[in-house]
Amino acid sequence: MGSSVEPMERRFRCTECGKCCFGLLPLTLDDALKHTGRFPLVVVWTPVRQGTRPFGQAARLGTTVSLGKRKKFAVRVAPTAYIPPSLPCPALYADGLCSIHAEKPSRCRTMPFFPYREESDQAQMLTPRSGWECDTSALAPVVYRDKEIVHHGDFDFELGALVDQAAILGPYADWLLESVPTLREELVKVSKKKSGGHVVVNFSTLLPRLPALDVADFARRKFPVMTAFAAKTAGVPELAEYHRRYRECADELAHLIEARPRAVG
Ligand code: SF4
Ligand code: SF4
Repeated sequence: MGSSVEPMERRFRCTECGKCCFGLLPLTLDDALKHTGRFPLVVVWTPVRQGTRPFGQAARLGTTVSLGKRKKFAVRVAPTAYIPPSLPCPALYADGLCSIHAEKPSRCRTMPFFPYREESDQAQMLTPRSGWECDTSALAPVVYRDKEIVHHGDFDFELGALVDQAAILGPYADWLLESVPTLREELVKVSKKKSGGHVVVNFSTLLPRLPALDVADFARRKFPVMTAFAAKTAGVPELAEYHRRYRECADELAHLIEARPRAVG
């Protein structure tokens, strides 16, 4: 009975518990490359069904595609630190604080807001997940009022980076969908799941779209990250898929390093 009315104001304060610093961490392309030697990078593709609220923004920042019986989806295409939900971010101290606070990724600065959704669609992001120790009490400051973010700076900065990188990621996504038919099949599979889902693609697929990148340098810095995560996840049955991906990426990086030996002298 009755209808729920969304509060006009939402309160939120981060208590720096570090509980949200586990699992996948979407990054702007700039942050992904800035932190090459820190995060195990992949590209995460997330279909978003037409008619849902996040569709428009996902289409603007990624691409659109017909999946299954001509159903239209937007696809969020996000460079991502591929960290299992049970493992902490490699930058997280044991006491829950961030060891790279001054240079942490834009995604971490904007939390809990999420610019892959419209500003007017952020209320849901302010409900902490189970186990998170965010303060949403009357003592916490108002951060969202009448569907507008009170302090815009970090949100605008991250959104600006996502809009800029769409010029690279949109054509990349269209090209990969065209070139790799199994990618579309995998997207169809996850698009049918009620709980949603995503498809993980190796970051190497994106390298040809980054002409200014020194690929050999990238590979040399990324290789130890992938091998470290492969070691962390070895022999853990529930992390077997992560382990397989780290190994595969490390092998690809090793080939890139071999193909581009360091200049001598
Ligand atoms: S970079 Fe810092 S704030 Fe961001 S997930 Fe890692 S530990 Fe947390
Ligand atoms: S879970 Fe909430 S309180 Fe804990 S670090 Fe993340 S945003 Fe802050």
